[in-house]
Amino acid sequence: MSERFIFTKHRCSCYNCGKEVDQVIKAVRSQAQVVCPNCGATRIFIPRIEEVGRKGLYTKIGCYDVWSLVTTAVCPHCRAKGPHDLTIGCDQFTVHCRNCDFIHFYKFNLEYIAQCPIEAE
Ligand SMILES: [Zn+2]
Ligand SMILES: [Zn+2]
Repeated sequence: MSERFIFTKHRCSCYNCGKEVDQVIKAVRSQAQVVCPNCGATRIFIPRIEEVGRKGLYTKIGCYDVWSLVTTAVCPHCRAKGPHDLTIGCDQFTVHCRNCDFIHFYKFNLEYIAQCPIEAE
């Protein structure tokens, strides 16, 4: 992942280990991921749609924890550096450029635990 597009953090309780830590959120054009730095739980999202559309177009209601975040990024479409809306749910990861309304829609692909930490007694 040399090309950087979205890189931000969101503090919340991890669905896997239950600890409240900064979940690391990364996205490039080919992939998006959310990683818990405490337990290594990783969710991978793959791109499905890239187009200009209105905000909230692909947001499905009914997911247990939808994160709505705003982060500054350089848009690969209009090249402007500015606020991007991130909508991350259990089955989707959407990035929306506020400048040109370009949307990257990623669909949930797989989930794994990258490490198995040994608890110190
Ligand atoms: Zn965790
Ligand atoms: Zn843009």
